[in-house]
Amino acid sequence: MFDGLAITHELWKFLHSHFVHAGLPLRAPAPSQVILFVTSQCNLRCPICRVSRRATSRNVLQVADYEAVLRDLAKLGVRYVSLTGGEPLMRTDLFDILKRVKDLGLTCHLNTNGALLHEREIGLIAALGVDGVTVGLDGPTAAVHDRVRGRQGVFAEALRAVTGLVAIRNKHGMPKQVGIGTTVLRWNLDQVPDIVDLGKRLGVDKVRVQPIDLASVPDCRLRDDVWMREEDYPLVDRVFSDLLRIRRQTGLITSSEGYLRISKEYFKGRLYRDIPCYAGYSTLVLDEEGNVFPCFAVGSVGNVRRDSVADIWFSDRFRAVRRDIAAGRCAKCWVSCHAEVSLLHHPRYALSTGLAMMRRKIFRRRNPDRV
Ligand code: SF4
Ligand code: SF4
Repeated sequence: MFDGLAITHELWKFLHSHFVHAGLPLRAPAPSQVILFVTSQCNLRCPICRVSRRATSRNVLQVADYEAVLRDLAKLGVRYVSLTGGEPLMRTDLFDILKRVKDLGLTCHLNTNGALLHEREIGLIAALGVDGVTVGLDGPTAAVHDRVRGRQGVFAEALRAVTGLVAIRNKHGMPKQVGIGTTVLRWNLDQVPDIVDLGKRLGVDKVRVQPIDLASVPDCRLRDDVWMREEDYPLVDRVFSDLLRIRRQTGLITSSEGYLRISKEYFKGRLYRDIPCYAGYSTLVLDEEGNVFPCFAVGSVGNVRRDSVADIWFSDRFRAVRRDIAAGRCAKCWVSCHAEVSLLHHPRYALSTGLAMMRRKIFRRRNPDRV
């Protein structure tokens, strides 16, 4: 019964944001997902990362601030919160924040590079009931992953984290989902299917694939080194065809079919710009200083230290930013957390994405040992 109500509610929110995006004079629905960027600090210095180059903030939100914001978000109707950074585990109070999230009954996901996840942290994640954890893994071997992550030994640390999370999930059922997040770039393109295979052998529940995002890092010095060249296009085609096949056969890759197909064209510099974005319609981003964004490539729309998150979300300013996004006046990135939501709203991809989600659910029910 509750599930039915929750699904109907989410479906209504989905249609509602669709109408607002189309320009109907309606108030936006509550965001379906909130991304909490809890720190810009990181223990790694991945050469392709813009986050670790940000100045360290001195004015970060404290646990009490998060408690108030999370309560406001829950009142607004938000049910899903994803924590990211930087490396969230750089915060010594991370587990206090996670506790506040779970005390409010919100579904909670944590993104991490895994290097700071040891037995104690993994035990706390399970004990608090964190629903999902995604560990970044950009290579099936130390040679590739450590190159992308900028330090030797990170591959072993990420594997230790994934293994520990899978073991505790098998024992206690929490976190419900252990995943791998893979950024695809020229350095690892031919190895992405092997990363999925490694994930399968490690026992993860899902692998999310994300092409490197250079649209929001215009000053990336490694652009020519990490981006695909024309001579790579046949390999791009082959790898993404393989990923689509593996996705159909195993259900392990959670990136949607539409996302994978368009990612292939994205690497060749075409097509993806035709997908209208729903950042700021279905998603809200909050940084560690309290700034609110539709996404990180669009400027701040307000700050929760000055105004409530609801006042910011329903403000005239946010409405104007939404119109800019609907009109395509932004960096036009292809970041999966926003792009997947946008695909669900797109007439050409909504049905296949929705059907694939149902198919995956059925597959998981029939093959509990496979995912
Ligand atoms: S681990 Fe993540 S946040 Fe840290 S430097 Fe690498 S990409 Fe950036
Ligand atoms: S496409 Fe969407 S997520 Fe990307 S920069 Fe534009 S508004 Fe932000």
